[in-house]
Amino acid sequence: MSADNAMESRNNRDPRVSADAPLLEARGLRKHFPLRGGVLQRTYAWVRAVDDVSFDVYPAETLGIVGESGCGKSTLARLILRLIEADAGTVRFDGQDVRGAAPPQMKRLRRDMQLVFQDPYASLNPRLTIEDAVAFSLLVHGTRAAEARERARALLGRVGLDPRLYGRRYAHELSGGQRQRVNIARALVLDPKLLVLDEPVSALDKSVQAQVLNLLADLKAERALTYVFISHDLNVIEYVSGRVMVMYLGEVVETGTADALAQAPKHPYTQALFASAPSMDPDRRMDRPPIAGDPPNPIDPPSGCRFRTRCAFAMEQCAQAPPALRPVGPGHEAACYLFS
Ligand code: SF4
Repeated sequence: MSADNAMESRNNRDPRVSADAPLLEARGLRKHFPLRGGVLQRTYAWVRAVDDVSFDVYPAETLGIVGESGCGKSTLARLILRLIEADAGTVRFDGQDVRGAAPPQMKRLRRDMQLVFQDPYASLNPRLTIEDAVAFSLLVHGTRAAEARERARALLGRVGLDPRLYGRRYAHELSGGQRQRVNIARALVLDPKLLVLDEPVSALDKSVQAQVLNLLADLKAERALTYVFISHDLNVIEYVSGRVMVMYLGEVVETGTADALAQAPKHPYTQALFASAPSMDPDRRMDRPPIAGDPPNPIDPPSGCRFRTRCAFAMEQCAQAPPALRPVGPGHEAACYLFS
């Protein structure tokens, strides 16, 4: 992949000192899912998917969110877009309170915030041609049929699918990469400001991944889009992001520019992620062994620091109380007692 196509300059300034107001602000987001059982379907436990997560996303930046499967990043995507209701916390988008929005306001907000899912096949209606699938949202928002179709065809062309060849095809007639292009067109058809991309290339072959990432980079530049990009793949996150947020078992453990995290990851979990990600750069190979074992059960996470059961540096203090995020460098924070 060409560095020219990277979504963010590697020399970009710390967005948090930008004069711009954040486009998206999340504060103290929490989501616990009940586990029910027995004849009366009583709640017997809670899955702590997202716990006290706060972050900002600035206009035209890409915030990458990375962590292992089950760390809560997909739940977080759905909380941002209010596809599920949070138990606590606030989300503000473009200055508006998303959690408190009434249905008409929420409909307007949803035009501006779109989600691209991991599985491009499951998220397409198999009974609609791809032209109709892309035009659908426009029709729902009151655009005339002929205009909706014309705009859908133009957008299909822009994402690399000639509408004369592909417009009347169905999802099952396309490859995985082509389906994801349709999903991207569908997400863009209402001209949103923010795309939340939840593992958008994880289901694709490596060569197709690169094509879709480059397409996303081009679209971002052309349309001044803001991205929240979620992935378990650190190489993808590093490539696309200006700033990165690392999650572990529902919590944020480190956040900083992509450069800062790549050059000097602080939290032992982030270090382990880098150590376990295959790198082409010999300077980036670490002597430390990659992260061992599976994450603990989110129903009953460890007390104190949730990473302590897998951390080579765990101390007595780590079991007592959760460490808070603290500055460890310019625009760089980590939640670990090694830095407090
Ligand atoms: Fe390891 Fe303790 Fe830091 Fe957690 S707080 S990452 S257990 S050293």
